[in-house]
Amino acid sequence: MASNINVDSSPAFAHIPPWVKAKLRPIAIEKIQQVYDWVETEIIPAERIFKAQIKDKRWQNPPIVHELRKKAKAQGLWNLFLPNHFEESPGLTNLEYSCCAEIMGRVYWAPHTMNCHAPETGNIELLAKFCNTEQKKKWLHPLMNGDFSSAYSMTEPDVASSDATQIGIKMEITDKEVIINGRKLYGNCKYNDEVQVFILMGCSDPTNPNPWNRHTTLIVPSNTPGFKQIRNLTIMGYDCAPEGHGEYIYENVRVPKENIILGPGRAFEIAQGRLGPGRIHHCMRLIGQAERAYELALVRCIEPRKKPRGKFIGEFDSNIERIADMRMTIDAMRLVVLNAADTMDLQGNKAGRYAIAQSKIMVPNALLKVIDEAMQMYGGQGLTQHTPLPEMWTYARFVRVADGPDSAHRHQVGRDQMKTAKDIRARAEEYTRRYKELCKKWGQEPEEFWGIV
Ligand SMILES: Cc1cc2nc3c(=O)[nH]c(=O)nc-3n(C[C@H](O)[C@H](O)[C@H](O)COP(=O)(O)OP(=O)(O)OC[C@H]3O[C@@H](n4cnc5c(N)ncnc54)[C@H](O)[C@@H]3O)c2cc1C
Repeated sequence: MASNINVDSSPAFAHIPPWVKAKLRPIAIEKIQQVYDWVETEIIPAERIFKAQIKDKRWQNPPIVHELRKKAKAQGLWNLFLPNHFEESPGLTNLEYSCCAEIMGRVYWAPHTMNCHAPETGNIELLAKFCNTEQKKKWLHPLMNGDFSSAYSMTEPDVASSDATQIGIKMEITDKEVIINGRKLYGNCKYNDEVQVFILMGCSDPTNPNPWNRHTTLIVPSNTPGFKQIRNLTIMGYDCAPEGHGEYIYENVRVPKENIILGPGRAFEIAQGRLGPGRIHHCMRLIGQAERAYELALVRCIEPRKKPRGKFIGEFDSNIERIADMRMTIDAMRLVVLNAADTMDLQGNKAGRYAIAQSKIMVPNALLKVIDEAMQMYGGQGLTQHTPLPEMWTYARFVRVADGPDSAHRHQVGRDQMKTAKDIRARAEEYTRRYKELCKKWGQEPEEFWGIV
């Protein structure tokens, strides 16, 4: 059935490029409009209510979030991220979800109201992809229902975790159970009692000659004896309540063997399935953060109380150019993200690896610059809680590291590109050979400096 919504006039679609609009199905058009209305009317006006409610009770999701989650679920604004090739999916493609995720990304906690937040989206996709029927019943369905929430735990303080073959937490697999000993860094904070399960990657077969078969992924309930949180990690000074980031110790933690996902030694298959979607979802949401920073900059441009030398700050040429740069940077970032989402839809997550890495490397870096410029336009207030800009900057900065540092992705992209050098050099040699033939034909002496090879 066609949608009554006009994608050429509704502000919900204002930033969606024509090639994407042409691909949106009626169900997606309806959802994008709904998400837009949700964020405009329910979330942005409530930002300061959210802050006030978590002021004293740092590690509980505030009442407003509980209420909004119920309401969003009743309206079908729920789990929109899970792509339509999963039977549990509400029906959107990655590309269509990207348009929704950008809008919800305008406010950091808005995705939570729709069960579309990190790390839940990546975790749910992981469980939908790799769990057996029993595990789905026990873990996936309650997570999708929003009954509790989950953490993903791979990073460790004692190794370079960007090289996941080094992950060392010990998992001893017996007939009935897995016994875990070691330390972990990151994974959402257990102080928040809604975080009830940890998806843990550990080393179960350290002497296996194939380093890609040494690791296992399993589900650890948060209340398992011996699994303790040492502290909450602050991120650039923020405690990131009410989600937080923990530092953990496992001392003889015993988990039933049936909590192993996919089978012992198969953690790398799972990590690849988990991290691709997780990364791109962050980037989708960051475009929304960029639009928000840009809008704040425009608001400041015509702020009547702030007129240095009697002029609006938007009347200074430097700021006019700044606005132009911000606009063009955001539009370019969006194309990179939408291309990654479309590639995932058309060719699968594995084939989309380059496009996902491209987003992961380019988007947070570009966004840092956009937010930085917006801060500059706000002067002293831009660096304080008078604006959301410092928290937005911190989010962009942490995505440079979370789900794998961008340096590691650049290294991977560069290594893959180096493999193309041989063919490209062969083409360059062919140009020179052909040039020499043309020289003969036209009676010219070949110029040596012209030949690169
Ligand atoms: C806010 C936040 C939330 C996070 N949430 C989670 C979570 O929920 N679960 C979880 O498990 N982890 C989480 N992390 C951890 C994150 O995924 C790791 O910090 C990251 O993967 C890097 O691992 P590491 O810290 O061990 O750094 P290392 O592996 O020691 O790397 C350090 C640095 O070395 C350089 N480097 C590494 N590899 C290469 C390379 N191939 N080429 C060039 N340079 C390289 C990079 O500059 C890199 O930043 C989170 C991190 C942050 C900041």
